Amino acid sequence: MRLILLGPPGAGKGTQATRLVEKYGIPQLSTGDMLRAAVRAGTQVGLQAKAVMDSGSLVSDEIVVGIIKDRIEEPDAKNGFILDGFPRTVAQAEALDAMLTLEGMALDAAIELDVDAEKLVSRIVNRAAEAAAAGQAVRKDDDPEVFKTWLAAYFRDTAAVTPYYAAKGLLKHVDGMASIASVSSAIDAILDGRG
Ligand code: AMP
Repeated sequence: MRLILLGPPGAGKGTQATRLVEKYGIPQLSTGDMLRAAVRAGTQVGLQAKAVMDSGSLVSDEIVVGIIKDRIEEPDAKNGFILDGFPRTVAQAEALDAMLTLEGMALDAAIELDVDAEKLVSRIVNRAAEAAAAGQAVRKDDDPEVFKTWLAAYFRDTAAVTPYYAAKGLLKHVDGMASIASVSSAIDAILDGRG
């Protein structure tokens, strides 16, 4: 199973990825996590990526494609993987295709968890208000302004890649605002060829 999971923060992508990792026994490959690990480890890639990540811009295609290429050649990715946060540009999507073709592999689907941006923001605003009322500090990811910036970045990135997968007939939509159980069964239906 080779899958791309697309969805903004708050859409339940993490929950679904964790479930799919268990169900299929394949790793979740998050370029954001890998880049953060590289920054922590102080590697060459980490040093190059840090300032770009701090500014909220995209790290170069060359760097992320290199990271993914190395990662999908690891033994645990031989039977498949869930890509999270990659590809974010058409150049990355094309590089991924070239890599997979070379390995005689193909993608099964690119699944996008569709969300209502306004509802997501109001969820975060409520959560921040509740935390403040309870005398707790508001977490960075519950700060509505920070959250809106993340959401805008997500829509910027997906706007670039979704048409690419739609044109290949690989893009599938799931209502990310539905219950966890409904989202799970919609994804399972797609992956079992029923959706
Ligand atoms: P994420 O955790 O996926 O939101 O990624 C955190 C940051 O890492 C992003 O804001 C980018 O700076 C960088 N990043 C992660 N994945 C990619 C990618 N596929 N292409 C370019 N930059 C990326």
